Amino acid sequence: MKRRLSSLLLFTTIAASAAAYVAFRLSPTLQNAVIERGARAQVSRPDPLPPDSDSLRVLLCGTSSPMPARDAAKSCTIIAAGEQIFLIDIGPEASENLALWRVPVTRIEHVFLTHFHSDHIGELGEFNFMGWAQGRRQPLQVHGPEGVEQVVDGFNTVYALDSGYRHAHHDHGKGLMPPVAAVMQSRLIGLARTGEAPQGRSAVVFEQGGVKVTAIEVDHRPVTPAFAYRFDYRGRSVVISGDTTFYPPLVAAARGSDVLVSEAEAHHMLETVAGVIETGGDGRLAGVLRDTTDYHLTPVQAAQLANEAGVRELVFTHIAPPIPWRALPFDFIEVPWLRGVSEVRKSGVHLGHDGMLITLPADGGAVQFSRLRG
Ligand SMILES: [Zn+2]
Ligand SMILES: [Zn+2]
Repeated sequence: MKRRLSSLLLFTTIAASAAAYVAFRLSPTLQNAVIERGARAQVSRPDPLPPDSDSLRVLLCGTSSPMPARDAAKSCTIIAAGEQIFLIDIGPEASENLALWRVPVTRIEHVFLTHFHSDHIGELGEFNFMGWAQGRRQPLQVHGPEGVEQVVDGFNTVYALDSGYRHAHHDHGKGLMPPVAAVMQSRLIGLARTGEAPQGRSAVVFEQGGVKVTAIEVDHRPVTPAFAYRFDYRGRSVVISGDTTFYPPLVAAARGSDVLVSEAEAHHMLETVAGVIETGGDGRLAGVLRDTTDYHLTPVQAAQLANEAGVRELVFTHIAPPIPWRALPFDFIEVPWLRGVSEVRKSGVHLGHDGMLITLPADGGAVQFSRLRG
């Protein structure tokens, strides 16, 4: 009896699904209703970073390294401090995250670049275009080390034809897409010179509305200069490491901060991957992978750095090799990736992922983690 009932239920479900599918195929009205519903759901998504003068927030918008990752964009971090929103690096695929999450990109007027590896700057042009197309009235200000002028000028040149077409098509003589706002402006942080070994320098490079941004030299040689950035707002602080090795001046500059968003590369896993590639006959690519281990932190080194700096929460980003979050139900890759970390740091360790939102109430002590859904 029970078996007959469940068969009947299954048959009814299949029949109803088939009928709905046929109705959908035959009815433009039904198709339009489904499309309208989807569009409404996307458009009515709440602003993930509404103005809030009482908090410092971090949104991870890209957590992968240059290695291909199915579930993560390349370097991208957002800091929302009170009413202001800042972008730190904008690697490939990251602007799509911002669009899908409906991040209010027109409110982002300042970008801080840590260095000019392609996984940190690849979508600067796309991001600038997004903000302009959505209504930003001022040119985007792009801060960075020596070389920033060349990078910004290059993107401006590449996108000049595109912005010309868009202006001609969409402005309608009403100033809807002012050409002047399409051209980014570079803001040089002249802390160090290209080719110079890092010398532990740091300087406050931006102060406005209670937000203080400090650029800190890091050691990512042969990439010079390369910076980390520290954001301070109403008693709370976040440090973003950029790409670096274990560099004592970064420890000093990060001292006492609430959150360290640190890059890390699991060298032991990378060696396994390189070995497989080499066995497969591509010694050249295996060599390129092995080269990267001399200018990145391991997860254990990042944990040691966080400990020495007295940082409360360590959040990993720039995760290499990538962790396929959706493909594996358990911590299949997490465990080997974090190997050795718990021996040096018992708590306050988080594997970052795209959409991780960290909220630090102003003048308080709490650190809250939540997740934006794609
Ligand atoms: Zn780099
Ligand atoms: Zn990188």
